[in-house]
Amino acid sequence: MPGRQSMGLNVVIMGPPGAGKGTQSDLLAKDRDIPKIATGDIFREAIRQGTPLGIRAKALMDQGQLVDDDTVIGIVQERLTRPDTARGFLLDGFPRTVAQAEALDRVIAERALAPLVVVNIDVPTEELVRRVLGRRVCTACGANAGPGDSTVCGKCGGEWIRRSDDTEGVVRSRLEVYDRQTKPLVEFYRGRPTYRAVDGAQEARLVTAALGAALDAAAAVGIGQSA
Ligand code: AMP
Repeated sequence: MPGRQSMGLNVVIMGPPGAGKGTQSDLLAKDRDIPKIATGDIFREAIRQGTPLGIRAKALMDQGQLVDDDTVIGIVQERLTRPDTARGFLLDGFPRTVAQAEALDRVIAERALAPLVVVNIDVPTEELVRRVLGRRVCTACGANAGPGDSTVCGKCGGEWIRRSDDTEGVVRSRLEVYDRQTKPLVEFYRGRPTYRAVDGAQEARLVTAALGAALDAAAAVGIGQSA
């Protein structure tokens, strides 16, 4: 009989900028009642608060570059010690490098947690650029709005704005950084029985359904592995 912790649902949602990770992660985390941990949101909050981390992160984010591994790994390690992760967690935007993925594997091994379920959302590059240039985020709660939505956040009444790293030049460099640093992660995870890929170019509600099914299938394999 697996222990309480080993039955948790530990999820990594991967995909290039604009694949819909944020929106889909919100839905999935709510549906599965596990906390969503988005490193990009943590940095944006630090920027809003003007902390030293925020100041350092903003310079990198505005160029489409990654924050250094040690900083990001430290933040996630600390976040995963909080009690709300005992039944599982959903990571959005982490890991983004092989070093981060290795650090996460060590956390899973040290704490004897259920195997990671990794789902990759695939979308063609030109579609990503189109989407990112059209998206808006809420200044208050960080929620995403699609193109053409009103200027007021439906969730909290805050104001929708374009992210400062959502310009065409920055998007192209984020995609280039993704290809160079994050895409190798697909190879890192692909051979695992708890890895799944989902077509992210289809309608959002179909992506949600495909993600839910992929999660269930991969989690069932994972439970078998940890039992
Ligand atoms: P996101 O909201 O996930 O697109 O992240 C926005 C920006 O935050 C990225 O372009 C990076 O500059 C930074 N960032 C977020 N997560 C990570 C991570 N795991 N490693 C390094 N930098 C990150």
